[in-house]
Amino acid sequence: MEQLKFKLDNRCSKNQAEQLANVKALEVTESQQENQNEHRTAVIYTDSKITLDSIMSTKNHNHLIEEIRERAVTLNKNNCKIEFKWVKAHARIFGNEIADRLAKEATQNNYVTYRSIPKSAIKKDMQKESIRKWQHQWEEIKKGVITKAFFPSVERRLAVNLNLSPKVATIMTSHGNIPSYLHRLKIIGSPECPCKHGIQTVHHLTFQCNRLKNEREILKTSVLKVGNWPVSKSKLTNRYLKQFIRYINSMDFEKINHSNKQM
Ligand SMILES: [Zn+2]
Repeated sequence: MEQLKFKLDNRCSKNQAEQLANVKALEVTESQQENQNEHRTAVIYTDSKITLDSIMSTKNHNHLIEEIRERAVTLNKNNCKIEFKWVKAHARIFGNEIADRLAKEATQNNYVTYRSIPKSAIKKDMQKESIRKWQHQWEEIKKGVITKAFFPSVERRLAVNLNLSPKVATIMTSHGNIPSYLHRLKIIGSPECPCKHGIQTVHHLTFQCNRLKNEREILKTSVLKVGNWPVSKSKLTNRYLKQFIRYINSMDFEKINHSNKQM
């Protein structure tokens, strides 16, 4: 019995490995076709339903699938009928067990037979690289101190589906209807919070402002169910984002900054 094992590039998919195995099996069948007048049948057993479905699908024009089809058609023309059969994986089926063992062994091959990396893997690599660059820039720039505190990692920020309502944008960037910001732009005379407990910064609004006591109590209660209070800003967006967004959306900046607010 002839046993062959081939190695694919690490970024190739499992499906590509299954498909390459089919191509190689057909190659061997071709090489064994000595007499074209003699009618033969070759059966290819695979535990990959996806591969079988792909071969049958008229919509799939993947390079390896096309090659399987073409080789099968040529063999058929040369009097060798090809049958594809599915076998259950990990069911102690003799040939399938050998194939599994060979697949494992092939990872140790020195030579890589197949290097056509799927588009999806290339896209992933490019995304990773651009995020890495972005992260580097993010760490280098001096601006966006508050946003950085909430999202130190670009990758994590991208993973979060953040609905940037005006209130959320204000808190996440510290740019908006906040006295410390308006004072910096010389729009108002004092950065103090009307609650009289310090300068009204994002930090103050998040953790200290008396005027948000009740709203903060709700946030605090849900954080304390699983963790500690106070929490860091990055943890607020990482572990308690939903609750934190709810807290931000409950802020009424007009009311907070109204000097006559009834406490
Ligand atoms: Zn305050």
